[in-house]
Amino acid sequence: MTAISMSRRQAVLATTAAISSGAFSGLRVRTADAKVPRATEQAPCYYRFNHGKIQATVVSDGPLRLGDPSAGFLGTSREEIAKMLTDNFLPLTNFMLEQNVLVLNTGDKMVLFDTGMGSSTIFGPSTGKLLSTLKAASIDPKDIDAVVLTHGHHDHCWGIMADDGGHHFPNAQIYISKADFDFWTDAAKLGMTDPPYMKMTVAGARKHLLPNRDRMVFIKDGEEFLPGIQAMFTPGHTVGHMVFMVTSDGKTLAVIGDLTHHQVLLMHKPRLQFVNDTDPKQGADTRVRVLDMLATNRIPLLGYHFPWPGIGHVAKLGEGFQYFPTPMEMLVYQNA
Ligand SMILES: [Zn+2]
Repeated sequence: MTAISMSRRQAVLATTAAISSGAFSGLRVRTADAKVPRATEQAPCYYRFNHGKIQATVVSDGPLRLGDPSAGFLGTSREEIAKMLTDNFLPLTNFMLEQNVLVLNTGDKMVLFDTGMGSSTIFGPSTGKLLSTLKAASIDPKDIDAVVLTHGHHDHCWGIMADDGGHHFPNAQIYISKADFDFWTDAAKLGMTDPPYMKMTVAGARKHLLPNRDRMVFIKDGEEFLPGIQAMFTPGHTVGHMVFMVTSDGKTLAVIGDLTHHQVLLMHKPRLQFVNDTDPKQGADTRVRVLDMLATNRIPLLGYHFPWPGIGHVAKLGEGFQYFPTPMEMLVYQNA
């Protein structure tokens, strides 16, 4: 045993003894009454990585706080959800999903995938951070050439317009499937009460999408609508949900949007049905088919709602899949 490890061991023993004897009760008071105030800010939420010749940056719109997770899934029990979370050291309450917004600098274009919640606080005050995290990442919204939407839900398209009618991305074309545009801007749905989210979601989509009709491009299954960016029709979560395959220098990254919302629940049991899918059965079928393809071909993914920054791989595990987050790197490599 070295002198250093001996001294650490002695320190641990001394600390343990002191705590059990109550000798540190005064220290707890000093912690609450610290001479340096506790910080309230986390590090700016952006993360850069290279994808082929593209420089990619993930910026956060802030986490969605969704409460009780067991209410979100069909065909399972509260106990089964609790066991899966417990087995993976995750909390049973205060279910939280990230919003990982991807920005690509292709050299020719700046492309942003999904836009977060905007000014809405229906999922708590922790969202709506996109503009500030873009700024922290030195990305000017005026430089964004393309806003690409996986689908028309609130946490994906409500960051397009400012409350005063201004455009947060004034020089961008907006890319979305026509099926999702038509479905979520349909005025006839404004009177619907079932499902309960429909009226609110449609009103929000109309606010953010309709003013951009003249700058909107409808994307089709299989289409390479921007250089190296191909759309893949992945219906179920919504009628026109899209996954995007980004290829550069022979490498492909899948931007999966809401193909799966959770790194454990909808991966280990991908047949679980998500209650807010427009067609939960179709959503599960699509999830299994696409995850199987990504696992077979070892294609990395970016999960919009996965733990920050949401980059990783999937592999087959039993009847489902295992998510392997890619280690974050401390340095930005200029290999393009
Ligand atoms: Zn979402």
